[in-house]
Amino acid sequence: MAEKKRVYIAYTGGTIGMKPSVNGYIPVSGYLSETINNMSEFYHNDIPEFEIHEYDPLIDSADMSPQAWQALAVDIQQRYDKFDAFIILHGTDTMSYTASALSFIFENLSKPVIITGSQIPLSQLRSDGRANLLNSLYVAAHHPINEVCIFFNNQLFRGNRTTKQHANGFSAFLSPNYPVLIEAGIEIKYVAGTTQESEEGGLTIGKIDQQSIAILHLFPGLNWLVLDNLLKSPLQALVLLTYGVGNAQQDANLLKTLKAASERGILIVNCSQCLQGSVNMDGYATGHALSDAGVISGLDMTTEAVIAKLYYLLSQNESYELNKKRLITDLRGELTPVV
Ligand code: ASP
Repeated sequence: MAEKKRVYIAYTGGTIGMKPSVNGYIPVSGYLSETINNMSEFYHNDIPEFEIHEYDPLIDSADMSPQAWQALAVDIQQRYDKFDAFIILHGTDTMSYTASALSFIFENLSKPVIITGSQIPLSQLRSDGRANLLNSLYVAAHHPINEVCIFFNNQLFRGNRTTKQHANGFSAFLSPNYPVLIEAGIEIKYVAGTTQESEEGGLTIGKIDQQSIAILHLFPGLNWLVLDNLLKSPLQALVLLTYGVGNAQQDANLLKTLKAASERGILIVNCSQCLQGSVNMDGYATGHALSDAGVISGLDMTTEAVIAKLYYLLSQNESYELNKKRLITDLRGELTPVV
């Protein structure tokens, strides 16, 4: 019989391992491991061997940060040679940001990194955590795809293409502009999932740290002075959430403010308020004016991927021009290049 694969499980926190309390669910150290120990299905022959490392403190993913992403990447790198695959248990609220950030930090990944969690704790009768974790372990061992992925509700997604779409339902994630990698139905079906070639030399990790980034959601009647003030703060990058294919109001003051900020070296990225489709600033005069003001197209990236990419790029201390170029370049499958 083939030797069982070994999977490292990093438990960062989130609902999956939480315990009910009078104040609602809370993370309690040791509780997740104890719950899993008492579930015989996790010791089935087809499930790989696994080792759980509970982080201290366990957090609600609302408290995730660039520092925590870096620490997570270092943790995985340190155990990279000892395990065949990696699972990160994480709260759903910021799971797409973490998946996007890790996809940029890891270079030359040749093993799967699957992030999962649940909407109901694993210890509860109707938990979705049981299927999410069992399937993640199964897929990691038997259908390894060397990317940073999210497994949720029977689907394996490219992590940097996801967004949290449902606050309560089990179908918490969506990949609006890229097909799922694997569909786990009666059979495990590969949809867009393939194992990518990795180069010799093994995994390397890039740097990611705190940067001054903001998001502004446009709406009719927005006072340009609000934008002007925002751009006066010590800002390095701004994500503008625009209409449709990347349009904004034809407010001369607003456009002038944007232009001046781009000229000062602030990266301004145009992301659509629409979930599906791609920004195309040549579509309408209202979008073209933004491009003339130096605004960079976010193409079909999710807002989460753009934020993570900005953190990553700004942490490399490269020039404004290079960052601008890399923002519209496909680094880890996070965008569909325009041909
Ligand atoms: N608030 C929780 C978190 O993101 C929700 C979850 O785990 O799904 O940590």
